[in-house]
Amino acid sequence: MDHRKKRVAIVGAGTSGLAACKHLLARGFRPVVFDAGDSIGGQWTRTLASTRLQSPRAGYRFSDFPWPESVVAAGGDDDDCYPRHDQVVAYLAAYARRFAVDECVILRSTVLSAEFVGGDGDADEWELWNGNGDAFGDGSGVWRLTVRHDDGETSTTQVYEFDFLVLCIGRFSGVPNIPAFADGGGPEVFRGRVIHSMEFPDMDDADAAALVKGKRVVVVGSGKSAFDIAAESARWLLHGTNVWGKVNLGYIFMNRFAELMVRKPGAGYASNLLATLLAPLGWLISKLTEAYYKKEIPMEKHNMSPEHGLASSFSSCRIGMLPDRFYDMVNDGSIVIKRSPTPFTFCADGLMLAGGERAVTPADLVILATGFRGDEKLRRMLATSRRVRDAVVVASRLYRECVHPRVAQMAVVGYTESLTNIHSCEMMAKWVARLVDGAFRVPPVRRMEESVAEWHGNASCIGGVNIWYNDELCRDMGCEPRRKKGMIAEWFQPYGAADYADIQ
Ligand SMILES: Cc1cc2nc3c(=O)[nH]c(=O)nc-3n(C[C@H](O)[C@H](O)[C@H](O)COP(=O)(O)OP(=O)(O)OC[C@H]3O[C@@H](n4cnc5c(N)ncnc54)[C@H](O)[C@@H]3O)c2cc1C
Repeated sequence: MDHRKKRVAIVGAGTSGLAACKHLLARGFRPVVFDAGDSIGGQWTRTLASTRLQSPRAGYRFSDFPWPESVVAAGGDDDDCYPRHDQVVAYLAAYARRFAVDECVILRSTVLSAEFVGGDGDADEWELWNGNGDAFGDGSGVWRLTVRHDDGETSTTQVYEFDFLVLCIGRFSGVPNIPAFADGGGPEVFRGRVIHSMEFPDMDDADAAALVKGKRVVVVGSGKSAFDIAAESARWLLHGTNVWGKVNLGYIFMNRFAELMVRKPGAGYASNLLATLLAPLGWLISKLTEAYYKKEIPMEKHNMSPEHGLASSFSSCRIGMLPDRFYDMVNDGSIVIKRSPTPFTFCADGLMLAGGERAVTPADLVILATGFRGDEKLRRMLATSRRVRDAVVVASRLYRECVHPRVAQMAVVGYTESLTNIHSCEMMAKWVARLVDGAFRVPPVRRMEESVAEWHGNASCIGGVNIWYNDELCRDMGCEPRRKKGMIAEWFQPYGAADYADIQ
């Protein structure tokens, strides 16, 4: 194949888009990357001043690009350190420069729609992906992108055609998830102001400070953004990843032995039987680790113990790090935590919480840190594509978490969550680059759909089976899945990005 003739577009220049571009460049393509923002780095460029990495630095990195000395030195030898968001942005920008990705990026360019035109045959009839199993199909189909370029004062709209589309638009930004309220219980009855957490980082520091100053602020949510906002103005939120002295969580939950205790999608009967037999051991390990955190963090005192066990929270990616001094602020009364099973409702003076606490929680400002609608973002982009009939389920029906069995010439990178997203999106990027390059072919559509059904139970999170997932990608790419030296290391050492550095 003559790469220079194949036009590949990437939408998004966050971690996923940068990785996708780097690996496509490495295979001889010259992709064009559109990003709506005015700098590289995606959501890390638009976050709260206090936001740090949730994953330890050692895990959150590209496989072949370590953190710079300055960040490593600041954290000392301790791998359990969490760079600030501006350090993450600098790291991503350095990666883009090092691999000449920045030369492919066109900033301030919003892809308004993506429509697949041409192409032969009906996707419902396909036996092979794209009709013939090739990443470019029979060559007659193209993605038509409508892109708005903004230069600050004016904007122009242009239409482009590409042979392959890689969507890296991020799941945790863009379209806010606003809870539905019964009539008379929504924000319209509230006398104060309601915003979504995504509006907060867009303000400069002075405006954000003025917004909350002297106000009674209620933050709704139990995810990372909720706790970050509460700290500035129920899930497991940890204060570090070393437990009981010096045992890193990676040795407990992120090695091959730990995955033996988990049922894995597509694994055979023997593997599932072994997981069942080892389940009591997994339960014990999880309880001992939970006991450590409950001793160190006053979550029980404040009625904040999560309902789910730690192991299952790892498997569903419901783990986060506490902001600095969070419980100090709870103890001195500047943050008040209240637990409420949904649905809560608004009233004129604040919020009415469900679950027994019927009294009004008074507020002047309510910040909904209630997450994002990644599915809706994809739907909007693909809405005009007649060939993508069911765009809303695209995100949850991806083979190898990357390609939809019945959507031609398109891949998605970074929509499925893991415990260190940069690592999983880089693995996806490597897999997609090889697929586009024809280094391997995906199986028949029916087999892909069976695989999607097996994996779908993981609810878009591969946290508990990340090594198993990487094994599948490695086999597809023709690479050895076992990456460690020696049996003991293979089974008990944590797996991370650096283990896959030689897969280029
Ligand atoms: C507060 C917070 C903290 C987090 N901390 C961690 C952590 O510690 N560890 C971890 O693993 N993960 C963390 N995450 C998850 C994080 O989202 C990922 O690690 C990663 O940065 C996502 O990168 P991405 O490239 O997939 O998406 P994004 O960073 O969201 O990038 C998407 C890019 O696509 C662009 N884009 C979107 N739509 C369009 C369009 N239509 N046209 C043009 N451009 C478009 C956007 O401008 C953006 O630049 C955190 C998330 C949040 C919200």
